[in-house]
Amino acid sequence: MAERTSGTAVCPGSYDPVTLGHIDIITRASQVFDRVVVGVVNQPVRKQKTVFTAEQRVAFITAEVAPLGNVEVQAFDNLLVEFARENGAKAIVKGLRAISDFEYEFEMNQLNRKMAPDIESMYLMAAPQYSFLSSSGVKELAMFGGDLTGLVPAPVASQLKEALER
Ligand code: ADP
Repeated sequence: MAERTSGTAVCPGSYDPVTLGHIDIITRASQVFDRVVVGVVNQPVRKQKTVFTAEQRVAFITAEVAPLGNVEVQAFDNLLVEFARENGAKAIVKGLRAISDFEYEFEMNQLNRKMAPDIESMYLMAAPQYSFLSSSGVKELAMFGGDLTGLVPAPVASQLKEALER
């Protein structure tokens, strides 16, 4: 594999729950940067109450990224740029799905740039097979008993089913 660039990148999200689309972005970031910190937003502002606690969301991701060797997972509830600074990150890496993510990310980018011009936001295009995959879509599918194979890690699929049956 090509040499990685030095430094840390942060991959933020609510990850409620983590999908294979998220794992794809985290994996690709871990191939570019020599350290990746996945930041799990404890209290998402733009979303309702989460299905899984921050601890559960962290645990799901931790299990999946363990084989990568250079990825850590932490919950955070301060400003993203502050969390990035605390971790010595020089970049925020996010995934961009077909059209839908652009407007929101464009706005967040300007705000984060204003607060922390030294931290660059970088965007990886979603893999074609995950371009229309979202945590909210997965939850809807699970609610109606849909098959989550190939969309989320197996432990997430079974625990999501359990959580939504309750
Ligand atoms: P969601 O929008 O699915 O609830 P998050 O808020 O947890 O996800 O998103 C965390 C980051 O992962 C965001 O940068 C988002 O654009 C990205 N992302 C989410 N789903 C995918 C996917 N299927 N492919 C690539 N990136 C994704």
